[in-house]
Amino acid sequence: MKPLVVANWKMNPQTLAEAKQLFNFLKKEGLKNIKNVEVVICPPFVYLSNLKSKILNLKLGAQDCFWEQKGAYTGEVSPKMLKDLGCQYVILGHSERRIYLGETDEMINKKIKLVLKAKLNPVLCIGETEEERNQGEIQEVLKNQLISALLGISKSIIQNSKFSIVYEPIWAIGTGKACEVNEAQTMGLFIRKIVAQIYGSLVSKKVQILYGGSINSKNALSYIKEARMQGLLVGGASLDHQEFIQIVKKISQRG
Ligand code: PEP
Repeated sequence: MKPLVVANWKMNPQTLAEAKQLFNFLKKEGLKNIKNVEVVICPPFVYLSNLKSKILNLKLGAQDCFWEQKGAYTGEVSPKMLKDLGCQYVILGHSERRIYLGETDEMINKKIKLVLKAKLNPVLCIGETEEERNQGEIQEVLKNQLISALLGISKSIIQNSKFSIVYEPIWAIGTGKACEVNEAQTMGLFIRKIVAQIYGSLVSKKVQILYGGSINSKNALSYIKEARMQGLLVGGASLDHQEFIQIVKKISQRG
């Protein structure tokens, strides 16, 4: 399985010109010849139609979508619309959406179902708060988030999709305090165990498990090599083209 590196630009940069410049740096300078890592750029919705890549491994993704395909849902964007703009991936359940926009597990479950129906690849984020961690509840939180997110989604649908799950401890996002590599590994294994309990071990091996939280060019490789994660979700560092290219290159050149 090719490692997957997902860039979450969040609500950045502030102009289309800057977004194009950042994307072009990646296309022209850094990522042109990288074939053994799948790189997905998730810009704000409004820039999607302006960013096009002919590089095989540079794909577009969205940071969210709605759970209905069309209709009277002011301000929302459907998976079909994203697909039409060339998106292949959709980040779902990011903690910032759960916290600031009140996204519930039920909403996330509905979104995943529609994204899968539209033949897009969901990138589901799960993770605990610092308080939950201090209370020893990490695994319980991850298990509950996973079970709710996957509710009513059949084994055959998961088997025939490209489904990614990101372990993103909330306390590690944007704080510079990345999760210890061995702890990330434990949680990665735990996530796979839960998926195996739901769908069986064969299907669980098809699901790609990523880490996210304060990734930079210095720590990136250890999550792939030591923690055996199958990819990374990169926030802040993805806005610095040199840093992001370094992250991808290090993973590409891993021994
Ligand atoms: C994220 O927002 O998904 C994230 C991992 O952010 P950062 O890399 O900035 O911690």
